[in-house]
Amino acid sequence: MAIDLVTRKEWGARAPRGSYSTVRSTRGVKVHYTGGRVDPRLAEDHDRCVAAVKAVQNMHMDGNGWLDIAYSMVACPHRKVFVGRGPGHLTAANGPGLNTGHYSVLGLVGNSGLVVPSDGMLHGILDAIEYLRDEGGAGREIKGHRDGYATDCPGGQLYSWVRKGAPRPGANSTPAKSKPEPAPKPIEIVWEGDVPRWPGRVLTYTKGKPYMQGEDVRVWQAKLQKRGWSIDVDGLFGEESTAVCRNYQQATGLMKSGSGQVDEDTWNMSWSWRPPTPAKS
Ligand SMILES: [Zn+2]
Ligand SMILES: [Zn+2]
Repeated sequence: MAIDLVTRKEWGARAPRGSYSTVRSTRGVKVHYTGGRVDPRLAEDHDRCVAAVKAVQNMHMDGNGWLDIAYSMVACPHRKVFVGRGPGHLTAANGPGLNTGHYSVLGLVGNSGLVVPSDGMLHGILDAIEYLRDEGGAGREIKGHRDGYATDCPGGQLYSWVRKGAPRPGANSTPAKSKPEPAPKPIEIVWEGDVPRWPGRVLTYTKGKPYMQGEDVRVWQAKLQKRGWSIDVDGLFGEESTAVCRNYQQATGLMKSGSGQVDEDTWNMSWSWRPPTPAKS
């Protein structure tokens, strides 16, 4: 998703009082919060975000006598990114001596009222960081204002997120098991007549881990399917194969409760076992 920029014109920024100092590149970006109270109603009303950014600019220019709003960019809960001083310009937010090393991005949360950054805000902060990398030569570092400066900024919520490496929300929700693990080397099946020799590895499945895959899985699945079990011959040993294996081990009397793992005995049994002939009446 492309960055959803709010230009200075769009948010009604005042012109800076002078010209910015230029920066060609930085080590990275520092994340900030407002430090004060943020009206929680802002989460439902983007117009309030615009008003809040204007208020920050007024405070920085009129209260502190600065050139402009101190931040490079500002992210609101709606995944919109306001242009502050922007890429290529020196920020004033990180503290004396610390502004050439990092750009600054403000997340519109505070220490009371709205304190929890929404997923949209975290995405917005990362959109801003990527924009500063692309347009302003920002390096890979993502830090908090409190790194190297005595402040509680960017607050507990944002700072713990920064410390975790500032992950995209939802980035870890893709289950690992959906990606089959590539087999390190192809499994070769040696046939003795129509019986394959046990290839030497136990077929097993661990929840949350990638599936084992290979020709041995496929050959075993095909055999069980031929024996009448309902199993896909896809070469991936997952939950279904484990369940079939367990039932098969119980049905043949190989194991009372069934391990669900195709070990050497189970493998050999799959080819040698004959169903008992029903007793003649
Ligand atoms: Zn700060
Ligand atoms: Zn907003």
